[in-house]
Amino acid sequence: MSATANKSKDPRIPVTILTGFLGSGKTTLLNYILEDPNHGLRFAIIENEFGAVSVDSKILSEKTEGDELIEVMNGCICCTVRGDLVEALKRLYSKIEDFDAIIIETTGMADPAPVAQTFFIDEEINAKFILDGIITVVDSKNILTRLDEQKPDGVVNEAVQQVAFADKILVNKIDLVDRKVLPDIEARLRGINPTAKTVRCQQSQVEPLTLINIKAFTLNNVTMHTPEFLENEIKTKHDPTIDSLALTFDGCLNINMLKELIHDLIENLGANLYRYKGVLNVAGMEYKFVFQGVGMLFSGNFTAKWEASEERKNSFVFIGKGLNKKTLTDSFMACQCSPSLRFKVGDIILCKTGCDDHHHGEEHNHDEDHQVHDHSHSLDEKESLPKHDEKDARLAQNHSHWTKGKIVKLWDQGNPYRIELDNEEKRNVWGPIDADDYVKKVQ
Ligand SMILES: [Zn+2]
Repeated sequence: MSATANKSKDPRIPVTILTGFLGSGKTTLLNYILEDPNHGLRFAIIENEFGAVSVDSKILSEKTEGDELIEVMNGCICCTVRGDLVEALKRLYSKIEDFDAIIIETTGMADPAPVAQTFFIDEEINAKFILDGIITVVDSKNILTRLDEQKPDGVVNEAVQQVAFADKILVNKIDLVDRKVLPDIEARLRGINPTAKTVRCQQSQVEPLTLINIKAFTLNNVTMHTPEFLENEIKTKHDPTIDSLALTFDGCLNINMLKELIHDLIENLGANLYRYKGVLNVAGMEYKFVFQGVGMLFSGNFTAKWEASEERKNSFVFIGKGLNKKTLTDSFMACQCSPSLRFKVGDIILCKTGCDDHHHGEEHNHDEDHQVHDHSHSLDEKESLPKHDEKDARLAQNHSHWTKGKIVKLWDQGNPYRIELDNEEKRNVWGPIDADDYVKKVQ
């Protein structure tokens, strides 16, 4: 190539590494960039997923159109599948030569240092790609806790590395903290990385052109805090108590059992759950239940419809400290139910309207605490579950109370039965689970 061509434009494809701890808002940022109609840039995306279940790529691929190329690598890009990254870049090059940029979204547990190093130690990569910048997204609410976390000797604190290697730090989710703490957060970030620019934002909304093709990465900054950057291959050792569970299974789940499970999970494991997301197949619903969360902040909604051609499956990923994978797996499996019901419309049955030890359907009492946004919000008082029948509950006190009723609808908003009670008001209640404990035959 001629010297003049070289001078006018670096022929190498710029690469942006998008990093940040679990739940900081990386995928939201990536979607924001991809959906912005104004920048006119064409990207190739390389996504790194923790486990074999790729929930993100499902969410992303629905939003991207044609010309973005998504390569998903399973494993951790900074250690276990680093070789795959090199291979993927080499393989992609001819297809994306005229793209404006590549964005690599790392997992939240990745140390960006070895990923960045890839662009300097491999000759072929160095000739074809240029590291444009490392963008780190931090969650204002959790970042200080993450930075303070004590790790055993030789184990990396990923959050510190992500801040240390950043060219730009997006201080995200500022709406979730008291504004007064922001200067403290920024001072702390500057203490770790004095050269990175910090930008405050919420919902990862930052002008894409200030993040991509900005020629921000300079070796000087990096070699200042990691002098061996260009010499030895950096080997990351992660904290072994932080683990992930990724699972895919068939079958459908009962909405009320699922809500109770989620409520219990958040209450009991909340602080140790760094990140979770999933797509679930709820019995009797035409829509996918998509949930995600960070610590105690959970959100779940029925979003897109299942396509007729699509196989209805459940898939989720949990990442956290000291996860009991078996218990977690078993508790989701326990929510499975049969898609066929024992009773049909018109059947006269007995349904339980007293209060008992179970609390199905009471999750929305805690909604505000946990920011749970689920379907139960749309319920009108009259349609509340049997256990919400305060009058009956009072009558029955702690004893279960069986009331005769007629099945008027199957699979009503995920509830197996809608039942018209045989009382004066002909009140409608839900049979939350298709089992004798809730709805049974008239003897
Ligand atoms: Zn790694």
